[in-house]
Amino acid sequence: MRLAVAGAGGRMGAALIRAIAERDDVVLAAAFEREGADAIGADSGERTGLGRNGVPITDDLDEAIATSDGLLDFTAPDATTGFAGALAEAGRVHVIGTTGFETQHEDALQTAAQRATIVKSGNMSLGVNLLAELVRQAAKALPESFDIEVLEMHHRHKVDAPSGTALLLGEAAAEGRGIVLADHAVRGRDGQTGPRPDGAIGFATLRGGSVVGDHSVIMAGAGERITLSHHAEDRAIFARGAVAAALWAHGRPPGLYSMIDVLGLRS
Ligand code: NAP
Repeated sequence: MRLAVAGAGGRMGAALIRAIAERDDVVLAAAFEREGADAIGADSGERTGLGRNGVPITDDLDEAIATSDGLLDFTAPDATTGFAGALAEAGRVHVIGTTGFETQHEDALQTAAQRATIVKSGNMSLGVNLLAELVRQAAKALPESFDIEVLEMHHRHKVDAPSGTALLLGEAAAEGRGIVLADHAVRGRDGQTGPRPDGAIGFATLRGGSVVGDHSVIMAGAGERITLSHHAEDRAIFARGAVAAALWAHGRPPGLYSMIDVLGLRS
């Protein structure tokens, strides 16, 4: 499968280029960046420490779409929704790892998925998707008297909060409880907050250093507490997951899929 990488000059862009180079069944067809970015013109292999691969980083989305079967996209919400329209036109696979989407972005992706095969997940690792399934089961089994809190920590450069993974885990907990996350989420506390609302799913965010991604879901009852955690040590886990998602999606009908589908974890 021929793959293009968006945001090729970014942290995940570099990890994706390395993950493609690890496998024989995928080829890096194109690597592109935002117009005017420093990385444009550089050899994408050299820039990611692999040695020269002959694939330059360009700012040409159309060329990237024309020469590839699918796009690996870990960029920014406005960029991703822009790419989605063009990929849908061309009927390409779109693997979306970008996080921080608002309702208008989600709506645009739903529309694009009528024609494109999209795999979208706030976390592309096997471990976190398995954790989400465990959270769903635990939330289903425990009574509502157990308070659910999602705690996350990421590196100091992350621009959105809570993380896409924290929201994915919150969704899993809500699904287990049979409630809608948006109606029960508490996404920040400061000052005189009053007591915790019954049935709330709380989020707490830490930022600092070079942390790749730590997530814990705490289920706190009277006199006992369950903590389910995942610690990401290397961005390679997300990049390898994204490549696996592209291969899984290749040849599948249009639709909006998640890593739960790719990993066969849907129960
Ligand atoms: P990053 O280092 O800032 O990389 C993002 C790259 O995308 C930057 O090089 C950025 O360029 C580029 N970009 C932005 N708009 C673009 C456009 N229109 N065309 C082409 N390139 C564009 O960030 P990161 O740490 O790699 O993370 C990227 C995203 O992936 C974030 O949303 C993050 O939360 C998410 N993420 C998801 C997972 C997962 O498993 N789903 C894992 C890790 C990270 P500029 O710097 O010029 O803006």
